[in-house]
Amino acid sequence: MKTHQIVIIGGGTAGITVASQLLRKDSKLDIAIIDPADKHIYQPAWTLVGAGTFDMADTIRTEASVMPDGVTWIKEFVTDIDPDKNQVTLKDGESVSYEYLVVAPGIQIDMDGIPGLKEAMGKDGVCSNYVDPEYTWKVLQEFKGGNALFTQPATPIKCGGAPQKIMYLAAEYFQKQGIADKTNVIFATPGSVIFGVKDFAQTLMKVVNRNNIVLKYFHKLERIDPVEKKAYYRLTTTDDSQCVSVNDDSNQIGEEIEGEAMMAIKYDMLHLAPPQSAPDFVKKTKLAHQDGPNKGWVNVNINTLQNPDYTNVFSLGDVAALPTAKTGAAVRKQAPVVVENLFHVMKNEKNLSKDYTGYSSCPLVTGYGKMVLAEFGYNNVRMSDPLISKFVDTTKENWSMWILKKYGLPYMYWNLMLKGKA
Ligand SMILES: Cc1cc2nc3c(=O)[nH]c(=O)nc-3n(C[C@H](O)[C@H](O)[C@H](O)COP(=O)(O)OP(=O)(O)OC[C@H]3O[C@@H](n4cnc5c(N)ncnc54)[C@H](O)[C@@H]3O)c2cc1C
Repeated sequence: MKTHQIVIIGGGTAGITVASQLLRKDSKLDIAIIDPADKHIYQPAWTLVGAGTFDMADTIRTEASVMPDGVTWIKEFVTDIDPDKNQVTLKDGESVSYEYLVVAPGIQIDMDGIPGLKEAMGKDGVCSNYVDPEYTWKVLQEFKGGNALFTQPATPIKCGGAPQKIMYLAAEYFQKQGIADKTNVIFATPGSVIFGVKDFAQTLMKVVNRNNIVLKYFHKLERIDPVEKKAYYRLTTTDDSQCVSVNDDSNQIGEEIEGEAMMAIKYDMLHLAPPQSAPDFVKKTKLAHQDGPNKGWVNVNINTLQNPDYTNVFSLGDVAALPTAKTGAAVRKQAPVVVENLFHVMKNEKNLSKDYTGYSSCPLVTGYGKMVLAEFGYNNVRMSDPLISKFVDTTKENWSMWILKKYGLPYMYWNLMLKGKA
């Protein structure tokens, strides 16, 4: 059996960042990263790929090229973790033992989570930036008018803002194409607000109204019929006083009642985020929450990122049960806390850093050349980068933030974050 001092499951944003930071502090550490992927993807730019304003090839590098020098790369799937034996099992049947473990295999896309989704995806105008942003761009270019439906599931998803960013870009694109007057852009969401943090929600509502976007709240996607081209929603409120619809007084989108509390919306194009969950192998381990709302996600102290039952285990990134948005930006603030705490645990010190307070950020692209930088922490408390907010009101749409998204953040990701320097 192979043995390593530190084993990291997943060589994505979190795994590579943590490994690089650890090695910058101590190049003698014996670290193995387990990840079967050939490619490493800068996923945040997929929003821009879907709108035809970023080259897909520039979002992809080989996994080998981002693997930090000095790390042992085990190119395999992890299928199980036994924290009692300090051991992980690989798909090829081999086991790897560890002294310390970092769990960072990201999130799983559940294409079976909504009946009809698997059959519908990738054809006849059904697209997702989470799956194939190049097809999204094709759909936008071929759209001739009608209902352009944007939606998201009731499960947690990575980058919760992504389903609406592509909608704002699409709405502007349809205007440029001269088809806005024969198009209904619709956002159907299980939520009750456009965004959880008020300052940003206010700006986004202006964008919604400027584009005459129809908002459908309390709409939980239950089924897609790719033949009829209809999306079926369960209405999750029966309280008439709650505002379910915005910008759709006369039901111009033709929403139909389908039995008790079910609604159907016909689409001419549909963009959605598929349902998502923790990877299946994680769900069945003792490291995951066994029940409750966090069931399946890795159980960690939300400030130290340490597992409460196995103190040699940490987790971060999309797989960790943290009550904040799952983003790469969150990983950037989580990684130094995991690294610092790993050193404390390796030295048998009890004074762990509690510095992770839920920071996450959502670069809300609101059109071509426009962006709102939403930064927040636990309980949706606003948290702004002190340097940026000195010069820019990040609650408003800004061209400079768009430049940051399109050029600054990708540069920072590949050259600083993955090298453990940011
Ligand atoms: C369309 C879209 C837009 C986004 N926009 C933004 C944005 O604007 N800003 C932002 O900050 N974030 C954004 N994100 C989210 C961001 O990409 C993720 O939150 C981030 O990549 C999470 O890092 P991670 O390391 O947890 O997961 P990932 O980076 O996904 O890495 C997980 C790694 O684990 C590996 N793995 C999976 N299963 C196994 C296994 N069984 N064994 C071993 N390895 C395994 C995978 O191969 C992968 O390399 C966006 C994502 C998408 C899809």
